[in-house]
Amino acid sequence: MTVDTAAARGLLLDLIARRSLTPDDAGCSQLLAEALAPYGFEHEWLNHNGVTNLWSLRRCGRANAPLVVLAGHTDVVPTGDLAQWTSDPFVPSERDGVLYGRGAADMKSGLAAMTCAAQAGAQTDLNIDLAFLITSDEEGPARDGTRYVAEVLRQRGTQPDYVIVGEATADEQIGDRFIVGRRGSIGCNLTVHGVQGHVAYPHKADNPVHRVLPALTELAATIWDEGNADFPPTSFQISNINSGTGATNVIPGQAEVVFNFRYAPCSSAEQLKQKVIDCLDRHNVRYSADWWHTGEPYYTPAGRLTEAADKAIGQVTGHKPLHFTGGGTSDGRFLAPLGAEVIELGPVSASIHKFNEHLKLDDFDALCAIHAALLRELSQSLG
Ligand SMILES: [Zn+2]
Repeated sequence: MTVDTAAARGLLLDLIARRSLTPDDAGCSQLLAEALAPYGFEHEWLNHNGVTNLWSLRRCGRANAPLVVLAGHTDVVPTGDLAQWTSDPFVPSERDGVLYGRGAADMKSGLAAMTCAAQAGAQTDLNIDLAFLITSDEEGPARDGTRYVAEVLRQRGTQPDYVIVGEATADEQIGDRFIVGRRGSIGCNLTVHGVQGHVAYPHKADNPVHRVLPALTELAATIWDEGNADFPPTSFQISNINSGTGATNVIPGQAEVVFNFRYAPCSSAEQLKQKVIDCLDRHNVRYSADWWHTGEPYYTPAGRLTEAADKAIGQVTGHKPLHFTGGGTSDGRFLAPLGAEVIELGPVSASIHKFNEHLKLDDFDALCAIHAALLRELSQSLG
């Protein structure tokens, strides 16, 4: 059973035409729900604090079938200066086989492709339970969307086995890479306390810059881990240092330092934080610290899900895709902790968040075929 490409393109145009700026779903999820309903999907709306969340489940009828979740967001980032767009970002416009519009790549094409792939899969004998998790809060605070739904699922004991996020992940050509993990991020605003005084009387002052520099030198030279086959080593970067009154004869009373870790899954946020605290204590630094932890890492090692994606992409495009762990954070970080293997697979990401966001229509057709093949491969390998 192949995807009805004309219907898929129609659905994509309908989605782009909706002005769904975070957290406004603008009826996008309703369109997807209507497309899925005739294929045995049962909808549950888990809206929260003005964010639209759709959980839609189709059971295959087999006991203890694995649960595969297709996840994505309907919200888009603001257009920016409309004069920079060749055509209205919310009027999908085709020129030379390329479709222009906000959300064309991030990620209304991913949602339309997964929806139509699920329709096609539902007309075959699937061995997997399928669910959609669709939110309108990915580009914003990301609190009341996937994170909230993941918590609801956790409380219910619903355990997704495999998650496919339809975010834009390809580099130059459709199918050239997909994401198997993302690094975590933790940072700190550090205030180092000293005692202000005259530079001529240092014994009556306590210079916070002198206190913290040896500690920072040690932190900057530390090897935190070695990374692994798919992740580069954890990196520590100082982004800001500020101190001083502007006067040349005053020892400052405090210093401010901002630093950030992008960390591989072989380190944990707690470990990194503790190592920093130990280092500051060893150097007798007096400080207060304001830590911010914006994302846990996740990692899906080679296995059934990545193999199915490799095969599906190979069948449709002939590519052997790169397994990639770069880029910023995504909603995958909220789903992996449920115990699921997570990948992200979607169109070319080059134009996302930019003026004249676009997608080649041939790429969209290929993406539909890839998602359909992926469901088929997963169903076969798990059945
Ligand atoms: Zn996105």
